[in-house]
Amino acid sequence: ERARGPRMHPKLLELYEVTDRVLGVGTFATVKEIKLKSTGQSFALKIILKKTLQGKGSMLDTEIAVLSKVRHPNCVSLLEMFETEDAVYLVTDLAAGGELFDQLLKKGYYTEGDAARLVREILLGVEYLHAMGIVHRDLKPENLLFHDKTEDSRLMITDFGLSKVLTSGNDVLMTACGTPGYVAPEVLEEIGHGKPVDMWSVGVIAYTLLCGYTPFWGEDQPALFENIIAGEYQYEEEYWKDISPLAKSFIDSLLVTQASRRPTATQALSHPWFRAMLDQNLAAP
Ligand code: ADP
Ligand code: MG
Repeated sequence: ERARGPRMHPKLLELYEVTDRVLGVGTFATVKEIKLKSTGQSFALKIILKKTLQGKGSMLDTEIAVLSKVRHPNCVSLLEMFETEDAVYLVTDLAAGGELFDQLLKKGYYTEGDAARLVREILLGVEYLHAMGIVHRDLKPENLLFHDKTEDSRLMITDFGLSKVLTSGNDVLMTACGTPGYVAPEVLEEIGHGKPVDMWSVGVIAYTLLCGYTPFWGEDQPALFENIIAGEYQYEEEYWKDISPLAKSFIDSLLVTQASRRPTATQALSHPWFRAMLDQNLAAP
């Protein structure tokens, strides 16, 4: 496998030891753990083969310039970038706690208190990115990573910003795992991809964390798309009977098909659900 991989950038190899540990494989990139030789500190190396850039390589530099300014506790920082003929190498913070996706699979679902804490952290990251003019466009539990392995580890958003360069229109619907369940109606209808797109995804994530399954369903992809565009979802009694009306009102405020009527990240953060859950968490022993 190594022989077929791209020849790494010499400066990168001089500064970092590239380990064999693959942290994850996404739609466009393979991510490996690397160690800064001078300190032994670990980082993540995201390797993007240029052939996936589909002739949009010229946009990459502008995007990278924006991304390298991102500094927020709930966003994975881009620290350094190397480029060869075949690939782009992005050095980022290491998120050692793994994907929210895997944690959710393990747990089944989260309590309201835990879900509110996680959703609030996602919103803080999204609020920051939106203020920087960055729309994520692919928010889902695979792109949310825990900083460390502790129970109360903070959550970090990854894989943002490059979507403009790496995807064109429908590509977002045909990603590797083929999970378009988090995509907003206006993306499916190809009529919009602004900040509200991320707010819809936050709504889908909140729903999914609370019950363990996604809100929109279909026998096949066309049926799924139809349900998303219609904004048709339910709170099945069996799974939702013990979940507060405030949680449902929070989700309902985001899963609104008309993009302009969704709250901004800042507005969503002031939803009373967060206050209620914070008070409850504080009251708990
Ligand atoms: P893609 O654009 O190909 O989807 P991602 O940035 O989402 O690439 O990375 C793919 C996977 O690699 C992630 O889902 C995650 O499991 C892992 N990964 C990405 N970045 C990091 C990181 N900074 N620390 C730890 N694991 C990471
Ligand atoms: Mg990804």
